[in-house]
Amino acid sequence: MYQRNTIQRAIILQAVKKLKNHPTADEVYAEVIKEYPTISRTTVYRNLQKLSEAGEIRHCELLGGADHYDHLCTDHYHVRCVKCGKIVDADMAYLPDLEKGLRSDHGFAIFKHDIIFQGICPACQKRENSEKKDNREENE
Ligand SMILES: [Zn+2]
Ligand SMILES: [Zn+2]
Repeated sequence: MYQRNTIQRAIILQAVKKLKNHPTADEVYAEVIKEYPTISRTTVYRNLQKLSEAGEIRHCELLGGADHYDHLCTDHYHVRCVKCGKIVDADMAYLPDLEKGLRSDHGFAIFKHDIIFQGICPACQKRENSEKKDNREENE
């Protein structure tokens, strides 16, 4: 039994790492059942929770609503596509100094901060450009 749990946990961790871009629990489940169709949704959800409690993945509260899981456990920022909702890791150093000003100005004991940059991902830009082109062609 112990061994079976360990194997399931490893499979689920692998799926989060493979998906990279902050999958929801449902997306992880969809990935896992491609190769292991017998795993239940409950098992996937339970193991995601255990993995994040163990610090092997991060549960992120980026968007409210659905739970997202992050394979990257160090402090980092995110970039979100406002068109398709995709979230990627920002290629930028974490700035612990940001918290200093706030602590002294407001008396809060700050323990973390998140930054989400908003933009349009390359795939959506491409789609938008080709839609614009289509419209132009229709108007000509
Ligand atoms: Zn997009
Ligand atoms: Zn991330």
